[in-house]
Amino acid sequence: MSAPKPIQAINRYKADLREIAFLLFEQFNVGELLGKPPFEAWGEDEVRSALSECYRWVREVVGPLNATGDHEGCLVENGRVITPHGFKEAWKKLYEAGWKAMGVDPAHGGAGAPRTVHILVEEMLSGSNAAFNMYPGLAYGAGEVIEAFGTPEQKEVYCARMFGGTWGGTMCLTEAQAGSDVGSARTTAKKNADGSYTISGTKVFISGGDHDLAENIIHLVLARADGSPAGTKGLTLFIVPRIRVSASGALGEPNDVTLGTIEHKMGINGSATCVLNFGESGKCIGWPVGGEAALNRGMPQMFVMMNGARIAVGVQGIAVASSAYLNALEYAKERRQGSSIAHWKDATAPRVAIIEHADVRRMLLDMKARVEGIRALAIKLTNHLDRAALAKEEKDKAYHQGQVDLLVPLLKAYGSDQAFRICETAIQTYGGAGYTRDFPAEQYCRDAKIFSIYEGTNHIQAMDLVGRKLGQAGGANLQAFLDDIGKFVTKHKDHATLGAQVKALGTAQEALAGSAMKLLTWFQTGKMDMVPLFANRFLEMMSELSVAWLLLEGAAIASDKLAAATPADKSFYDGKLHAARYYARTVLPHVELQAKQMNDEDRSPLDISDAAFATV
Ligand SMILES: Cc1cc2nc3c(=O)[nH]c(=O)nc-3n(C[C@H](O)[C@H](O)[C@H](O)COP(=O)(O)OP(=O)(O)OC[C@H]3O[C@@H](n4cnc5c(N)ncnc54)[C@H](O)[C@@H]3O)c2cc1C
Repeated sequence: MSAPKPIQAINRYKADLREIAFLLFEQFNVGELLGKPPFEAWGEDEVRSALSECYRWVREVVGPLNATGDHEGCLVENGRVITPHGFKEAWKKLYEAGWKAMGVDPAHGGAGAPRTVHILVEEMLSGSNAAFNMYPGLAYGAGEVIEAFGTPEQKEVYCARMFGGTWGGTMCLTEAQAGSDVGSARTTAKKNADGSYTISGTKVFISGGDHDLAENIIHLVLARADGSPAGTKGLTLFIVPRIRVSASGALGEPNDVTLGTIEHKMGINGSATCVLNFGESGKCIGWPVGGEAALNRGMPQMFVMMNGARIAVGVQGIAVASSAYLNALEYAKERRQGSSIAHWKDATAPRVAIIEHADVRRMLLDMKARVEGIRALAIKLTNHLDRAALAKEEKDKAYHQGQVDLLVPLLKAYGSDQAFRICETAIQTYGGAGYTRDFPAEQYCRDAKIFSIYEGTNHIQAMDLVGRKLGQAGGANLQAFLDDIGKFVTKHKDHATLGAQVKALGTAQEALAGSAMKLLTWFQTGKMDMVPLFANRFLEMMSELSVAWLLLEGAAIASDKLAAATPADKSFYDGKLHAARYYARTVLPHVELQAKQMNDEDRSPLDISDAAFATV
């Protein structure tokens, strides 16, 4: 038997900077926000050069560690996690290069870039090495929670160190019996005379729960203080350092946080997913984020932060899927197999590159349309975030924030579901080679599966959409979303080349509005069990409508620019037109079909008895 081939530390990550620039500067007019407060340090040139420099950096530093980190995985030695080779140096270089400080407030040493730009940097970090980027991503997220809700002293001690890579960070919500049902957490917090709390409990599945990258790890732990009510209302978020920290930030003694084990997973193997025991010896101390006044405020605090985390997960999806697509595209141009269908009777006809076969072209265009459409959704959403933060008028702020709230579950759930499917299509495009470790698609596919599960499973996202978001502001946010699409349809329905697809968008928009009414009727008539039964399908319909809209919007811009474009840009704009047309013709009709299914009220999954699923 021959030994397995060694895994090579080479970069496989690919990004399409032309596409990114199109979204920022041609479709979403991010330039309007640049050069003035709070983005006075950022002009179009700065944005372009930051993104191309980031692309160079990720390919050089973290990209080569993606496959090796996956192959090596994490180890446990003497009760501590050892991360894969190269991660330690990459962590140091990441913070030296400043990529994790892109979105950080300049008051905490950051670059204060617009969210649209920040999210694209995150896309490159996750796309080049999703597992590695989990560690700094969690540290950043936990730092943001303290920045938003901490006392001034807590901000002073923790924020800069967590944003700057001196300390890592985690979010500790999940327990063995408390997964989707976070409110059944059993970790306890007992008040001490000095105002601190003694924490006791076990958290599972904690990403970056232990590692060797930073001198300390700051865990944010959801726990129930003595006397607090049951359920989510009684949960408090505690700052629990792995090593105790003095008021000046100096490190003290270990804080009785121990590693139980690490999980052996399908993907993101370079990211340590840990069981953590807090207070096995009764000596684990924590402090409520925001002090005593924030007792039982854990869930509202988490809710504010969830938007950021859920956007980040949706973007992890596009990041990996986009690179899977671009790698499959490269392979399809090189791999020669079979002859053209035009010579199907001629056994001596020359072999052609597989990109010439109709079904391979279909897969490539399908991936292109989905990747570019979902990325457009991410930029639309983060553009609303930037504009909400800058809006002077209350009604503008409410409009932009309302759209953010509505689009977050779409990006998280549709982005992650589609990411897995796009990666699967990439494997199919390669044929057998895609199923091997010689090419990156199989790792991308394994890595991508987790995105639909963590940070709230996609059903939790769908329930958030139909149970909370649709009715927010008395339904005004949904109405504004539908109106925005309606205005686009009115303007472009007679477009010379896209008119038919724009009209189809109008039909799908009406179908979605009808389905939203259907959900409301179910709520009002006590047919509550129909709501979760169709929630995921409604989220999918709304996502498909959004993606079709944004692809067509991009295509309309491309169509205007085509005549005067350079040869390279002609191909680029032509690609935008084809991707939009394909998605509108192939995927968009699904919205109407799903609406019909909602009207039919099929209850089969509810009515089938447990015993009828299988007789085993
Ligand atoms: C690699 C990895 C990393 C993770 N990182 C972290 C982390 O850093 N911090 C952290 O706190 N957690 C983390 N998690 C945990 C993750 O958030 C949970 O796995 C997730 O929330 C689902 O919980 P569960 O696994 O207990 O599944 P369950 O909640 O048991 O769900 C199982 C299935 O039932 C469905 N379901 C559950 N409840 C309902 C309901 N009421 N109605 C309808 N359907 C329902 C779910 O959608 C799912 O399909 C991580 C998990 C993994 C695998």
